[in-house]
Amino acid sequence: MIFYTNDLVEKYKQEIKQEIKHFKKKQGITPVLSVVQIGNDFASNIYVRNKQKACLDVGIDCKLHNFAEKEITPLQLVKFIKELNDNKRVHAILIQLPLPSSFFNVNNILNVIDKTKDVDGFCPYNIGALVLGVPSVIPCTPLAVLNILKSQNFEIRGKHCVILGRSNIVGKPMAALMLSESATITVCHTGTKNLADFCRSADILICATGCPKFVTQEMVKPGCIVIDVGISRDENQNCCGDVDFENVKNKASFITPVPGGVGPMTIAMLLKNTLDLYRTSILHSPAQLN
Ligand code: NAD
Repeated sequence: MIFYTNDLVEKYKQEIKQEIKHFKKKQGITPVLSVVQIGNDFASNIYVRNKQKACLDVGIDCKLHNFAEKEITPLQLVKFIKELNDNKRVHAILIQLPLPSSFFNVNNILNVIDKTKDVDGFCPYNIGALVLGVPSVIPCTPLAVLNILKSQNFEIRGKHCVILGRSNIVGKPMAALMLSESATITVCHTGTKNLADFCRSADILICATGCPKFVTQEMVKPGCIVIDVGISRDENQNCCGDVDFENVKNKASFITPVPGGVGPMTIAMLLKNTLDLYRTSILHSPAQLN
């Protein structure tokens, strides 16, 4: 089965829209997501535009703060994030990654975001809480993958889940999330030997390397559930994922395409996380309503 996520995304968006409408009517407050973008990366411009459009669709006010690389130093960026932390009208903060190379200490910058406004769930508190199984903001892409699996009522408990990639924003939180669902986890990366053997033993294969069409038919067990997180360009400059889709689709029992799979779900999860932070902020600090 090839699973395009558009219907599922639409369902989430309608639910989020309704809840925001309800809160706005009751409290008179609009949810605000502040997006900070440094520089003019081509792919980031597209991602930011998609996020802005999705926010508009559901009634979130998405404020873009776009600085030229020369216009702001890491220290000034930290100061700016602190101002957003203190701004009671802002419910959620997102730093668009990757930052330009002059902002080399990305973790130090992400650390500054208030954990109650950290919509991507990348700050150490939220990552730590995820690992400990404490309720937290879960990074949007891993959450998107889990919700795709849950939408199909797949049994996750006891399944062997192989994750390709160990980045802080996809692979590591994905592993923590699938572990919390009682899957047995293997994380493969650039240091893994016999990677294809691990892939072949996967019941659920989650691919997030950024290597176009890296996962071939021979690397997939018949009936495997394949989730493709990667976004790359193939030899003809067409958008593609980590998986050699045309060949693997015949062997997998379930596969997400690129484009049309994890990407749109990730944006739906950004909306969901923004709504959650907004709701918590309103319910916990009614004084700020004025
Ligand atoms: P990254 O470059 O930070 O990490 C890639 C990981 O893959 C690394 O841990 C590396 O060890 C591993 N890797 C790379 N090449 C490998 C190889 N040949 N063999 C084994 N392991 C290898 O990337 P990321 O930020 O985690 O993103 C991964 C991919 O997912 C990218 O294509 C990115 O564009 C995409 N992505 C998609 C979404 C979405 O919404 N669909 C969100 C985030 C990232």
